Amino acid sequence: MDAPAHPPAAAGARRRVVLLGATGSIGGSALRVIARHRDRLELVGIAAGSNWRRLSEIAREHAVRSVALCDPAAAAEATASGHFPAGTRILPGLAGLTELASMPGADVVLVAVVGTAGLEPALAAIASGKDLALASKEILVLAGRFVMEAARRSGTRILPIDSEHNAVFQCIEGHPGAALSRVILTASGGAFRDWPLERLAHATPSDALKHPNWSMGPKITVDSATLANKGLELMEAQWLFDLRPSQCAAVIHTQSLVHCLVEFTDGSMLAQLAPSSMTFPIQHALLYPGRAPGVEPPVDFTRTVNLDFRPVDEARFPMLRLAREAMEAAGVAPAVFNAANEVAVGAFLGGRIPFLAIHAVVAQSLARNANFEPPGLSAVLEVDSEVRRTALEDVARFK
Ligand code: NDP
Ligand code: MG
Repeated sequence: MDAPAHPPAAAGARRRVVLLGATGSIGGSALRVIARHRDRLELVGIAAGSNWRRLSEIAREHAVRSVALCDPAAAAEATASGHFPAGTRILPGLAGLTELASMPGADVVLVAVVGTAGLEPALAAIASGKDLALASKEILVLAGRFVMEAARRSGTRILPIDSEHNAVFQCIEGHPGAALSRVILTASGGAFRDWPLERLAHATPSDALKHPNWSMGPKITVDSATLANKGLELMEAQWLFDLRPSQCAAVIHTQSLVHCLVEFTDGSMLAQLAPSSMTFPIQHALLYPGRAPGVEPPVDFTRTVNLDFRPVDEARFPMLRLAREAMEAAGVAPAVFNAANEVAVGAFLGGRIPFLAIHAVVAQSLARNANFEPPGLSAVLEVDSEVRRTALEDVARFK
């Protein structure tokens, strides 16, 4: 990947990190990595949606003086609370997050906001020449072309946090792009990988949230149960590594120890392995290109370890097929897939639609929206909000 436009902090200095989504699952793992490597990393800014109480604890633990809350009412409450250290700047709204993401003195912005709310702050981080450590895959699905163009223009490094993409990043380092023939992302198969198909109609949110291997936020855990997550990740890989849709594949790997397989033109493959904890890819991205002992121990391959792989059954996981079709159709189809999925997953988690209706809502949205090549980001954002509106209407009809 390209060199950053602005050099990182001087040798020996700590890398200054802004963490968007600090109160979430990725946020928590990132805090563990930063706490473990205080000699190399310094947290200088944190943001969340509305959970200011947790944010105030983090601000005290890490002596952070710049905070943003997307919900302006939460920001006002936080300011009035007196819970933050004296002198803390509390920035409200999306504008606050965007200001934080471009704050002077930060070297890397880690975006781990659920969904696409982190798009504008991510673009601000790119425009100000900071490294972008990216967990929020939905941003690339919505606006991959524009994000990657902006990163190329400013010379920003995009360091993937999503475990599979971080794995690919590690495997392809030092290999020319032309030598790469295919990337295969592994999928655990989520909560329903072994359920009888006829039971899926009755699956509840609490069933879907029982992920066999990973502990993650609710939206991505449901996306893992439908395998929409792997579909989003195929599109994420396409943008991050400049691949054609036919070069991106998925396979079920139940142990979640191998995170990707990268196939080269000569038929050789490289894989990356690590325990199923996000501290590994987060640490890799934040210390890149350095390495240091991890927060958790590695897999011990001197003991018996089984690695199973099997093809994805698209009858069980039709969302992966929809995602692949959207990726191949290109244009705004990936944005439609993403927006409808976000609405449908929210409705499922809220008990307003059954599990199988997630697919129905997304399929309806894709069928309804004529595809086109968007001339600019604003055209994509218009499609995004229109799809959210109509998908909500579809959801309401389930009542
Ligand atoms: P969580 O639901 O655990 O956390 C979401 C975070 O986003 C919270 O800090 C939340 O703040 C914040 N947030 C929500 N809405 C807004 C908003 N409008 N503006 C600013 N912040 C907001 O999600 P995860 O940590 O699981 O996932 C985050 C991203 O990382 C997702 O895009 C996911 O796909 C990706 N990812 C996650 C993995 C994981 O292991 N969890 C693995 C790979 C990728 P608040 O607490 O105030 O609501
Ligand atoms: Mg992943």
